[in-house]
Amino acid sequence: MSPNTESESRKLLGRLRDTMAEDAAGQARLDKITHLTADSMGTEVCSIYLFRDPETLELCATQGLNEAAVHQTRMKLGEGLVGRVARSGKMVNAADAPSARGFRYMPETGEEIYSSFLGVPIQRLGEKLGVLVVQSKEAREFSEDEVYALEVVAMVLAEMAELGAFVGEGAALKQRHTQAVLFRGATGQEGTAMGQAWLHEPRVVVTNLVADDPDTERTRLQEAVGELRVSVDEMVARAVGDQDQVDVLEAYRMFANSKGWLKRMEEDIDRGLSAEAAVEKEQSQARARMAQVTDGYLRERLSDLDDLSNRLLRILTGQGRETGAAMPDNPILIARNIGPGELLEYGRSLKGVVLEEGSVGSHAAIVARALAIPLVIHAERITNETLNGDLVLVDGDQGIVHLRPDDTVVSAFRDKIAMQAKAQERYAVLRDQDCVTADGCRVNLHMNAGLMADLPSLENSGAEGVGLFRTELQFLVRNQMPRRMELASLYARVLDAAKGKRVVFRTLDIGSDKVLPYMKPQEEPNPALGWRAIRVALDRPGVMRMQLQALMRAADGRALSIMFPFIAQYEEYARARAEVDTVLAREKRLGHIVPERLEIGCMLETPSLAFAPDRFFKEVEFLSIGGNDLKQFFFAADRENERVRRRYDSLNTSFLTFLEGIVARCEATSTALSFCGEDAGRPVEALCLAAIGVRTLSMRPASIGPVKSLLMRYSLGDVRRVIDESRSRGDQSVREAVMEFLRAHA
Ligand code: PEP
Ligand code: MG
Repeated sequence: MSPNTESESRKLLGRLRDTMAEDAAGQARLDKITHLTADSMGTEVCSIYLFRDPETLELCATQGLNEAAVHQTRMKLGEGLVGRVARSGKMVNAADAPSARGFRYMPETGEEIYSSFLGVPIQRLGEKLGVLVVQSKEAREFSEDEVYALEVVAMVLAEMAELGAFVGEGAALKQRHTQAVLFRGATGQEGTAMGQAWLHEPRVVVTNLVADDPDTERTRLQEAVGELRVSVDEMVARAVGDQDQVDVLEAYRMFANSKGWLKRMEEDIDRGLSAEAAVEKEQSQARARMAQVTDGYLRERLSDLDDLSNRLLRILTGQGRETGAAMPDNPILIARNIGPGELLEYGRSLKGVVLEEGSVGSHAAIVARALAIPLVIHAERITNETLNGDLVLVDGDQGIVHLRPDDTVVSAFRDKIAMQAKAQERYAVLRDQDCVTADGCRVNLHMNAGLMADLPSLENSGAEGVGLFRTELQFLVRNQMPRRMELASLYARVLDAAKGKRVVFRTLDIGSDKVLPYMKPQEEPNPALGWRAIRVALDRPGVMRMQLQALMRAADGRALSIMFPFIAQYEEYARARAEVDTVLAREKRLGHIVPERLEIGCMLETPSLAFAPDRFFKEVEFLSIGGNDLKQFFFAADRENERVRRRYDSLNTSFLTFLEGIVARCEATSTALSFCGEDAGRPVEALCLAAIGVRTLSMRPASIGPVKSLLMRYSLGDVRRVIDESRSRGDQSVREAVMEFLRAHA
């Protein structure tokens, strides 16, 4: 009998459901499924292979092959036809299996007598669980209907596995989501955290996979899709006026209205799946495709489809984002990705954040950094593996996440946190002391900020001021351009909170990785080298003028420091300065109080500016080296690209020599110089920067303690000598020499 009719397929599913309902051990259930499937498909063999570890498949149940081979026969990913299905995630349908590419003969199973082979992956939401195989003596290709029927069985198997149906006595599968898993991602924000998982999008649990009455299920699905379409229409209506958002949502709406999508799900229902299971089957296939697609646009569309499936599942199951569960005390947020606004809503209640996607410069990363929450990005598949409440250890320094770790890992991690806490106590003692090195050099330590929420750190960290206030965050976390009054009131509150300490406001630095949600994204071949920061501001001066006005109003007569980002040549500075003069004159004309002192500086983020004419250095009141950008342009290595971003050491002798040149020009022209890139917050880098003459460093508040503590223990003259010797030896980087010196003089 071949299940080439829908009713036969439904019958098989009905029998599978009964198997699930029976009170049987996991192995017994698996055995029964192979039996039922072989019977229904009219094949001599049906076998289930499951992953033992990410590289190894094991024969876990069979009807037709040698039973003694169960739990004995194993194969590596990619090995034999089964391994091929597992690796590719695609079915193999061969009439003459022994002559098919990759066939491997496994004598212990007695499989040489079978000619045809059909294997389909068992996967759930893109996660590979195993392979389901049918074989028969007759040499024939399986029909499309048969392939389809086996895929449906595989899907039900995957769902049953998720529900723990195969766990128990003689278990073929361990209980899912109970084992320890290590995720190697990338650092988004340093720091360590230990807490309980809190899924941004809690998983939807589908318990009714099989349904007897397709008409009812079709109606349920159609109603849910109707509801989904209405909600998407509402989203589009809300976005009217914002053409870019409307464009994105239109693509989304197109999917929601896709006849093909609905039709495929209806066909699944006709074969016996419930409406929910049909949605999930489609979603699983979209995820599997997503894993193989490299084209960014297509991936995004598949991700839209994934998102719509989630919404549909929530409508069908009534399971909202609000699960009723209370947020744990030490929540670690786990998400595929998250917007900056949403992250800000969670705020400092979070102990850590782990994302599957994201990038170092993404808005979420910027917010996490501002909130000083450890963040690991690129933790692939963590949302699939995690259950709400699971124990999670986030190591933001290493970019590692331990999910459900065992006791030894937990205790080692506790030790690490305790050591860090001890160090914090040591730093707290230094908080109110000036940072003076062993040879009496004074180094000024300032902090970087971007949110009102950062300001309490000014006092707690002992920072002498805010060396870099990134104003773009206020623009990034909103859905529309903030108004002048809103900005003025925020800047005023920042100045109030700073209580007279200097705050350097950097004007809007957008473009490249920082794209405003309400600005049309520019299609640029090289955004980091493109239309960004001051280039945008000078071409469209309206926003900068509004921001300058807001800053002057906020100062309300107090001293004000303004810094322009990404100045590459004198003329850009001159034009930006002219804008300040115009706004200032207008403020005076309007009778507003103007700042008692206005200080104008520039970020030095492009190598070209280091070679600007003397008049630039003489006119500008201060310069701050934006090492993050400067380094990426110096080495031509994208700061966002994991492959290259750590390739070049910041203590590379060429780079230090270049920085020294900037120091010399500033000294010759009496221009105040600081450094505000991430390296300023790394103690050894900070020590070397100070040694070559950069005496003002601006960093994350949490770095001030460690940097101060190291700087106060060493003599800059000694470090300078070590750097010079290393350079004259021709070392590529001074790091090794400096580290050796630090160890020797600890
Ligand atoms: C830099 O480039 O070093 C810098 C401080 O600016 P941002 O990281 O905001 O680009
Ligand atoms: Mg920069």
